[in-house]
Amino acid sequence: MAIDNQQKELLQKLPGVDHILELAATDSFFSDVPRTVLIRSVRSVLEELRSAIIENDHKLSDGDPADTAIMETVKGFVSRAMAFNLKRTVNATGIVVHTNLGRSLLAEEVVQNLITIGTRYSNLEFDLAVGKRGSRYSNVEDIICELTGAEAAMVVNNNAGAVLLSLETVARGRKVIVSRGELVEIGGSFRIPDVMAKSGGIMCEIGATNRTHLRDYENAVDDSTALLLKVHKSNYSIVGFTAEVLLQELVALGAEHNIPVMEDLGSGTFIDFSKYGLIKEPTVQESVATGADIITFSGDKLLGGPQAGFIVGKKEYLDRIKKNPITRALRIDKLTLASLESTLRLYRDEEKAVRAIPTLRMITESVENIAKRAGSLKKMLEKVDRSRLKIDLLDLSSRAGGGSLPLLELPSKCLGIIVDGISANTIESKLRSNSPPIIGRIEEDYYIIDPRTVQDEELAIIENAFDHLLNKS
Ligand SMILES: *Cc1c(COP(=O)(O)O)cnc(C)c1O
Repeated sequence: MAIDNQQKELLQKLPGVDHILELAATDSFFSDVPRTVLIRSVRSVLEELRSAIIENDHKLSDGDPADTAIMETVKGFVSRAMAFNLKRTVNATGIVVHTNLGRSLLAEEVVQNLITIGTRYSNLEFDLAVGKRGSRYSNVEDIICELTGAEAAMVVNNNAGAVLLSLETVARGRKVIVSRGELVEIGGSFRIPDVMAKSGGIMCEIGATNRTHLRDYENAVDDSTALLLKVHKSNYSIVGFTAEVLLQELVALGAEHNIPVMEDLGSGTFIDFSKYGLIKEPTVQESVATGADIITFSGDKLLGGPQAGFIVGKKEYLDRIKKNPITRALRIDKLTLASLESTLRLYRDEEKAVRAIPTLRMITESVENIAKRAGSLKKMLEKVDRSRLKIDLLDLSSRAGGGSLPLLELPSKCLGIIVDGISANTIESKLRSNSPPIIGRIEEDYYIIDPRTVQDEELAIIENAFDHLLNKS
């Protein structure tokens, strides 16, 4: 592109990196900014200005005003470079196990243990009783067995890894029988057929999408069958003219033919949610008691712990799984192990677990309680600007999320917010760029805040964000 004289002049007027650095040296804003970050920011800003001049869409004024404007842009660059990419976020969606927002929150007690183990040496792989090398998995195996009734257990990086490792161990090169109604896809590209293929297991689909019978499994069993697999329909349900085979029927069939049965429970809960007036989810203890040989589930869905994948069941199979070299590639680190052990210990007292583990507390929170929080937040927001804000308290539903409890809608009391002169879309994007970001949802013309997933101390964050939205922008 040809450059005319005026552009040439502008380019010559552009200050050098050193000049901007000199200005920065006298500005306390930059005193704690690493020099590399500052230099990178200055270069980027000058580079952008140069391109803008060449593309003819920049007005550069003389002398100091230009310097001042450049410094402001540099400050913006530096602030963005210094901010964390992974940051705390206010979840106002009402989806408790929100996969995009970090799934489960750790309990306070759990974080204390995380700090101790993270900042100190530990017996991660050291058997203190004999003074020799030990196994990291033995740190949680006893408590998992105690809570679930299983003979043996181990933990890997996540449930996808648990399924892969289990299939690879028991079914590589052999047939795995699974119902067509259970070929699940979870967000983030976990699909049973793909994981099966990667494990080397040969998938044998049986039944129809809506109906699978015991005789379908029976007809498919042959000498090359390694496993009968049942997968929990975590994020969908099949309704209407349906039939599925119960775990106990599969266990009986497996026993008859000497074929192990594996269940991928997905969420995996130790708590019977029907006791809290919610829908019945199969518990891990029930699957163990039914006699499944291998059961897998997540650590950070309904269990409310860190990301992890549990494998529990019969010792015979767990011994083989533990020896699989892939275990090393899927192993959990000490921070996960520390938070997992302390989360699991909370389950020894169910009432305590429901109070202390945020996922359980939020899922079981009564609508009366949520309504109180909704009322407080409404009052706080109305103090910000009663004239432009219209807030209705709406009877809407929260969800457990994370591919858990697909049918369950948790009754909630939400704030439906309308701001005079600002669209719901604009509110959504402004709050999303707040520090910390606030994530809500839009329904019809309302910007919706569901207080179920908003922590008490976050109400003030929302109040400040609305203050900013209405009074300072
Ligand atoms: C969520 C889920 C998985 C994957 O678990 P991650 O812990 O996310 O790896 C596998 N199977 C089922 C049925 C699930 O619901």
